[in-house]
Amino acid sequence: MDSSISKFFEKSQKDRLDIVKNFANLSDEEIKILEKSGGITFDNADKMVENAIGTFSLPLGIATNFKINDKDYLVPMVIEEPSVIAAASKAAKIARIKGGFKVDADESYSIGQIQVLNADSSAISKISESSKEILEIANSKSNTLSKIGKGAKEVSCREIQTDSGKMLIVELLIDVGDAMGANVTNSMCEAVAPLIEKLSGGKTLLRILSNYSTRRMVKATAVFDKDEVGGEEIVNNIILAYQFAANDVYRAVTHNKGVMNGAISVANATGQDNRAIEAAANAYAARSGKYSSLTEWSKDSEGNLVGKLELPLSVGIVGGIINVHPTAKICTKILGVSSAKELACVITATGLAQNFSALRALATEGIQKGHMKLHARNLASAAGAKAEQIDEIVKKMVQENNISLNRAKELLDQI
Ligand code: NAD
Repeated sequence: MDSSISKFFEKSQKDRLDIVKNFANLSDEEIKILEKSGGITFDNADKMVENAIGTFSLPLGIATNFKINDKDYLVPMVIEEPSVIAAASKAAKIARIKGGFKVDADESYSIGQIQVLNADSSAISKISESSKEILEIANSKSNTLSKIGKGAKEVSCREIQTDSGKMLIVELLIDVGDAMGANVTNSMCEAVAPLIEKLSGGKTLLRILSNYSTRRMVKATAVFDKDEVGGEEIVNNIILAYQFAANDVYRAVTHNKGVMNGAISVANATGQDNRAIEAAANAYAARSGKYSSLTEWSKDSEGNLVGKLELPLSVGIVGGIINVHPTAKICTKILGVSSAKELACVITATGLAQNFSALRALATEGIQKGHMKLHARNLASAAGAKAEQIDEIVKKMVQENNISLNRAKELLDQI
């Protein structure tokens, strides 16, 4: 299937849904769920969180044109910010000229940590000698993972110095398969803690997953055709814009926020833990001791722009809310991903696409032109304009270069 769908943005909701239905082989029932806003009922919400009083909806859109590792994807994105979905689609359109995104993902290894206080000096050697027994106890917590050859694989130890003295940190490396794996990691850490206490002669305190998922790295790269980018000068300017982010924390945070616009929108649509993704990405951005750009931009020998994005990414296609939230389930089906690794590849490619579009806009006409036009729609709506009045108000505000709530209200009064 080809994801480069012409003028998707000009189509009606029904036509867009028909395209997606056909692309992803969705059922009539699934289309009905997408048509209804939100996807979850109050009863679903009440089971997910405490003290629920309702549900809260956000727009779900589709980014077109994505080709990742030679496969076409329609990418569902949940985000409230205008421009993001259009920008991702545009970047993917340019990237596919040179073959699309190439993405590699590690196996899905999570890291579980057990904090040990007052450990004996022989603790590390005793724990190493008993690693087989520790792994057996850990693996007894998941028949599913054991059956598919996954589960806890390694035990390691390291010491840290703190204001309260030395602490031993024991880490479990766990192949969590197609899940994010937070719960199984936590269960395994808790299960092995009594044996760790016995072996170390110390006292365990925290037993919890690390969200810094550096054993689940994803690396995406794409080549953006020089002419389609806008020529040599714009390519050079994008690289200069990247260098600003690579060397200035105030710019880097905003630059990386753009990456997250892409990555988190897909994560939201597929029911991922977006806080885990952002926390890990930000730590990775500061891995050298200095917070910097998550992406890298350079030129190839022909002067085309080459982008790279590397992220620690912990995502799943089973577990969490994925099986509970009907829309998240349908979005995962739209993507057609068959593993957590494949989903991680799509999320990372979308982050790179988004960064490309943001840099290109910033390095050319500035970001506000496109942004404010879309923002004008929100303002017209906030001023109380009905659907059929919005276009007229937006057109006028853009013509006048006066995009504000007050002007939207004045124009509405005049209609
Ligand atoms: P989960 O607890 O639902 O576990 C996944 C389930 O899927 C398990 O029962 C597993 O046996 C099953 N499964 C079936 N097929 C599988 C396969 N092929 N590979 C792997 N598992 C398979 O979900 P989870 O991924 O352990 O936890 C995710 C949730 O935990 C998220 O909602 C997250 O917000 C939350 N959480 C996060 C943190 C954190 O990030 N620090 C801490 C606690 C909980």
